[in-house]
Amino acid sequence: MSLALYKKKRNFNNTPEPVTAKTKQKGKMIFVVQRHSATRLHYDFRLQLNGVLVSWAIPKGPSMYPKDKRLAMMVEDHPIDYANFEGVIPEGNYGAGIVEIWDKGTYELSPENDGDGMEAIQHGALKFSLSGIKLQGRFALIKMKKGAPSAWMLIKEKDEYASDIPYDSEEHTDASSPITHQLAASITNNFKANQPKKVQTKAASPKRIKAAKLKAESKKKVL
Ligand code: MN
Repeated sequence: MSLALYKKKRNFNNTPEPVTAKTKQKGKMIFVVQRHSATRLHYDFRLQLNGVLVSWAIPKGPSMYPKDKRLAMMVEDHPIDYANFEGVIPEGNYGAGIVEIWDKGTYELSPENDGDGMEAIQHGALKFSLSGIKLQGRFALIKMKKGAPSAWMLIKEKDEYASDIPYDSEEHTDASSPITHQLAASITNNFKANQPKKVQTKAASPKRIKAAKLKAESKKKVL
């Protein structure tokens, strides 16, 4: 686990994202899910492990419904401090857009991982139990046998917290979400920009009437 790739991708003079891990690991380990409006809206799922946040980008977001297999692309490790990061990554920077915390809490590795999360990741099957606000109970991250080497699936395991109906993480996003507000504003702006411009009506002078008639005539001839 290393932050070399994380640092290589970013210019810390231009982004408010944290540079290094300052927080020491003690007690329970943390997890965070950040909703991120970059080129495409996605969710970043991060688990504290061996002094960093191991991270996956989940296009559709996590699900509490065990029948869902959510594609999770493993990305570079992030510093532990990143779990508190919310804000705007300015244009021109890696991941430019808004980051907001969608869910956060603690987690424990499941007994079948024998307490060794790194080894479980190397074997392509990480099992853990989350204690978040939205995400609760047992989950598995399973590496896909086919497809991109970084492709994993996040699956909710059946337990008392599992949903028995399909789960859309967008519907579980807080109403105060800055990203949702920004998306709503850009939809409104696009709508306004696409409205037909109001024609300015000027008082009709004889000269203008003549000009209009000429214009109509010229159109007839062309047609
Ligand atoms: Mn992201």
